[in-house]
Amino acid sequence: MNSFKNKNLSSLKSEKFDWSLIQSEMKKKLGLDIYESWLKKINFVEEFNNYILLSVPTRFIRDWITSRYLDQILQSIKSYKKEIIRIEFRIVDQSEKFVKSSKNLKLIDTNENISFIKDSHLQYNRIDPNKRFKNFIIGSSNKLAYEASLKVSENVSNYNPLYIYGGVGLGKTHLLNSIGYELKKISKVMFISAERFMYQFVKSIKSNDMVKFKEHFRNTDFLLIDDIQFMNGKEAMQEEFFHTFNALLDKGSKIIISSDRAPNKLSRIQERIKSRFSGGLVVDIQKPDYELRKKIIEKKIDEINNLYPDQIKISKDVKDFISVEILASIRELVGAINRLVSFSRIYNKTPSLAETKVILKDLLNLTENKVTIDLIQTLVCKFFKISKNEMLSSRRSRYLVRPRQTAIYLTKILTSKSLPEIGREFSNRDHTTIIHSVRTIEKLKDQDPEMLENLNKLKNQILYNEKVNEI
Ligand code: ADP
Ligand code: MG
Repeated sequence: MNSFKNKNLSSLKSEKFDWSLIQSEMKKKLGLDIYESWLKKINFVEEFNNYILLSVPTRFIRDWITSRYLDQILQSIKSYKKEIIRIEFRIVDQSEKFVKSSKNLKLIDTNENISFIKDSHLQYNRIDPNKRFKNFIIGSSNKLAYEASLKVSENVSNYNPLYIYGGVGLGKTHLLNSIGYELKKISKVMFISAERFMYQFVKSIKSNDMVKFKEHFRNTDFLLIDDIQFMNGKEAMQEEFFHTFNALLDKGSKIIISSDRAPNKLSRIQERIKSRFSGGLVVDIQKPDYELRKKIIEKKIDEINNLYPDQIKISKDVKDFISVEILASIRELVGAINRLVSFSRIYNKTPSLAETKVILKDLLNLTENKVTIDLIQTLVCKFFKISKNEMLSSRRSRYLVRPRQTAIYLTKILTSKSLPEIGREFSNRDHTTIIHSVRTIEKLKDQDPEMLENLNKLKNQILYNEKVNEI
């Protein structure tokens, strides 16, 4: 594995097969929706003589891409390297991908090699007209950031800078973009990612053009800098940024900054810069709560339906499911909606809950893994107020039998364990006992409303344990 990875990186370096170029071309060619929903998930693995190996997170995504977009992808690759005649996919699950991406990140840091900076990060004064205040959906987690941004855009704020922070995919770039969009109509606006600022900076040093660089950035009414955490450890850049920052403050220009963390949590960034950041208004964006997730689902589906003549229906079940399941970010939520919509458009049907689980498998992974027999047993014992020893004992008192059967039933429906496996986890009970328990509860569930209610409560506790606490 290790040698494979090294080889992978060295082939990347020596031949400079720049996957990000192909990605930006596909984005242009196939549109942002398709790109965000499906193609962004593709990772470059390795290049061989006449074919390249790519990875995707699930079988479903691979099949979807191969059946619909493979030709176009190959075409893009060929225009770049005509020897390539074939694409192969490997399915790589989430955890492996994480290792790989952290490795790549390291590479960027240590090499400081600009050619590794992904094109998608290079957006520079390219304000996206689709990201505006009017389609920014507000909830309690982002209200303050929204209001502060709106004030800046109306030029009625008296704080400077405005510093917005929060995790990935929560709407920071959307807000900065909205501010830029409004102000551009009346003022000089510069919208740049810190990464791009770095790129320009290094380029100017190399070409001996620092005077022009300074003039360029100091000659604006509003400077919007996205993802400032990227400056960490880059001393020369910080030095330059600090002076730019001061020059802008002096002449009354406004500065708006986004970051993935609070100013005092920025590592390897000069204290005097951090203290400047804290000197204005600092607001955070939290993960969306349940209310906001529901609202986003409704509005996004409406938005898409307004764009196309053929209306798409997503069932209430599916909406409920994704609003409880997709918690990490608004980006993932929007991505999930886009995928469901493209599925229903292509198959001309409303996706069922089971289909939804397949389509979104890679986004749901984490919760699936969390359900263990141990968790089920613990929560069921707590619910019925018995001890785990009692549950696992061979005693057949009525007050123990029902909870035991309930736990067995829930294990059967919530995990992929086989009957003998479940038997083993319940003190080596025979698989016929397991079947009997499952059938008993199934029957009771249909006859006894209290049983059904208990099962639903337990199911929610088991599946959404953390999330219930979070809300
Ligand atoms: P960040 O910069 O915080 O990583 P983005 O601003 O890029 O996140 O947001 C990710 C995606 O989610 C974008 O497509 C954006 O338009 C969308 N999005 C984020 N927050 C909202 C919101 N409150 N309302 C509507 N769309 C949102
Ligand atoms: Mg962003």
